[in-house]
Amino acid sequence: MTAVDMGIPVMPDVFAERVPARPDNQELIDRFGRTARDLRVSITEKCSLRCTYCMPEDGLPAIPHERLLTADEIIRLVTVAVQHLGIREVRFTGGEPLMRRDLEQIVAGCIRAVPGIPLAITTNAVGLAHRAHALADAGLSRVNISLDSVDRAVFTRLTRRDRLESVLEGIRAAKAAGLGPVKVNAVLMPQTVDGAAELLAWCLDEGIELRFIEQMPLDADHMWARAKMVAAQTLLDALAARFTLTEIGREDASSPAERWEVDGGPATVGIIGSVTRSFCSDCDRTRLTAEGTVRACLFSDRETDLRVALRSGASDDELAELWRGAMWNKWAGHGIAAVNFTPPERSMGAIGG
Ligand code: SAM
Ligand code: SF4
Repeated sequence: MTAVDMGIPVMPDVFAERVPARPDNQELIDRFGRTARDLRVSITEKCSLRCTYCMPEDGLPAIPHERLLTADEIIRLVTVAVQHLGIREVRFTGGEPLMRRDLEQIVAGCIRAVPGIPLAITTNAVGLAHRAHALADAGLSRVNISLDSVDRAVFTRLTRRDRLESVLEGIRAAKAAGLGPVKVNAVLMPQTVDGAAELLAWCLDEGIELRFIEQMPLDADHMWARAKMVAAQTLLDALAARFTLTEIGREDASSPAERWEVDGGPATVGIIGSVTRSFCSDCDRTRLTAEGTVRACLFSDRETDLRVALRSGASDDELAELWRGAMWNKWAGHGIAAVNFTPPERSMGAIGG
């Protein structure tokens, strides 16, 4: 049994010296027996909010225009991932994907190139009200919306922007456009745990599935501290004071969210315990940054540049082979619990969550 099977986070260098040869396999396999089927594509570093657990107050340094993947390049790489590498689901993220005016064009182009592929976005929903129908018409299947609090003052402090009303309008518009089932993600913070039951009650009223995410050390300001983060168990205790929760487990093995039925169901609440209940051994993700580099793990700064290869005339087969090589070297686990853990250089908004 490997350390990954046992759920033990492993620091990467332990394995760095002895990477076995990759077997002949067309999919995105790694040396720990995992296969990536879920692609996250960051399409911008820009954002309309400044969540304290993610972005610096002044935003991320702008990616020079010539380094950013164009819509056509994103469509080409998504097509390679689906047609050559076995990717089954694609999610656009950022930064904030709605900051790109050509998001509808990207979605429509991907659907034309690989009809039927489920396409989703993770968004803060600011301004979504004006685009939800166009995105649905372009072929978007689903949206995950990030909302940490329905208390305007708490929301404004956490995001450093007074935009709660725009987010709520965006959620209503996504539902009306049929971009469902709409899911809401909330990062667990000391400022939000007291309002967690209120957020859950609001989501239950709206018929929205809510998932809490443990805060990871991926903030640009490097303020994360294990001692200060709110653990999944603390949240469960807080919710149990108001709701009856019955554990029902994960939807499937690769789903990061553990789920509980609320008050006898059918509504559920999910918790993604990235830190205290790590699920690295079942991870099925591969990531493409807005600059066109493959990242095998959120926490690994090792990246493989597909943009340069693509712009130098690489064929689809060559791009696919580079991508396979990047994933074969994926680490066993994020290693947050290790004493010598250091956060990655890129913050969450610069990778794409
Ligand atoms: N701007 C979009 C949004 O907020 O949904 C997409 C990008 S955001 C980086 C993607 C997801 O990462 C969001 O659900 C956000 O809450 C989450 N996230 C950001 N920083 C995080 C952190 N330090 N720990 C855990 N989740 C984080
Ligand atoms: Fe922007 Fe999303 Fe990061 Fe918040 S979590 S700052 S909305 S990218």
